[in-house]
Amino acid sequence: MNSTQTLSLEYFPPRDIAAQERLVRSAKRLAALNPAYVSVTFGAGGSTRAGTVDAVQMLQNLGSEVAPHLSCMGASLADLTAILDDYQARGIRRLVALRGDMPSGMGGDTGALHHASELVAFVREHYGDHFHIEVAAYPEMHPQAQSVEHDLQHFLAKVQAGANGAITQYFFNPDAYFHFVDRVRAAGVEIPITPGIMPVTNYAQLARFSEMCGAEIPRWMRLRLQAFGDDRASIRAFGIDVITTLVARLLEQGAPGVHFYTLNHADAVAQICANLDL
Ligand code: FAD
Repeated sequence: MNSTQTLSLEYFPPRDIAAQERLVRSAKRLAALNPAYVSVTFGAGGSTRAGTVDAVQMLQNLGSEVAPHLSCMGASLADLTAILDDYQARGIRRLVALRGDMPSGMGGDTGALHHASELVAFVREHYGDHFHIEVAAYPEMHPQAQSVEHDLQHFLAKVQAGANGAITQYFFNPDAYFHFVDRVRAAGVEIPITPGIMPVTNYAQLARFSEMCGAEIPRWMRLRLQAFGDDRASIRAFGIDVITTLVARLLEQGAPGVHFYTLNHADAVAQICANLDL
């Protein structure tokens, strides 16, 4: 990693005491990697708003710069203002601004804002440049987009509205990332687009996530992972090897850094970073 490339880590709010203890252990261990910031996810429909705030506070207490994720799905403007005022009062300077998703099976109010670009514009209008804003990017296209071209235009609208940087959905094919970055640069946009990296430690979980978010598991990886069956040690060793190679290639070929989806586990991320001397 060169002096301008950054490492960031993503956590999610724990749902019980055991999960909370695991988050604290993982965050303490991974703090040794000296991340530029750590981020905390936000549940759709505000379901884990309190959990996000508690996790943000805990990570701030550990001395990390924290970037809470904020989604506008299901939120009123008053809800968003209350959250943003609270973050501003807590000294938060960074946000990951998202639309979010409606929890499946729940109809109802989608909220005052309908796209992440509107949330970015709202934050800029009311909080000026107080927050550094990251937005989501989809090298393999967001699953609900009409087309890759529409999705690119919607991404560019978030930058136009004031995003400072982007974090991608995870992917395993680096060409998808570099191709996306080339298209963004061809549109004259220069913000850093940081690859989101998903460690591979559990095939069933990865297959489920990938189905939902539209990330492709390449055939060769899928077949190897399926062949390991319940052999978790082999899945883990294979996953660490594949992701180490992916991260090495991304950093060598000019990615501005990497953002790890830790899933609140330290082992795989620590091992990948150790392999690469990060
Ligand atoms: P948008 O950028 O608004 O795009 C969503 C879809 O709408 C796309 O298909 C886009 O092409 C389309 N679109 C955008 N603007 C328009 C327009 N004007 N007209 C028509 N179509 C439009 N989810 C959570 O619930 N909590 C989290 O903490 C969270 N963290 C995430 C972090 C990262 C780095 C990433 C990549 C995703 C995260 N997600 C999270 C998932 C995210 O909320 C979903 O992918 C969601 O479906 C889209 O959010 P978005 O911010 O990308 O939406």
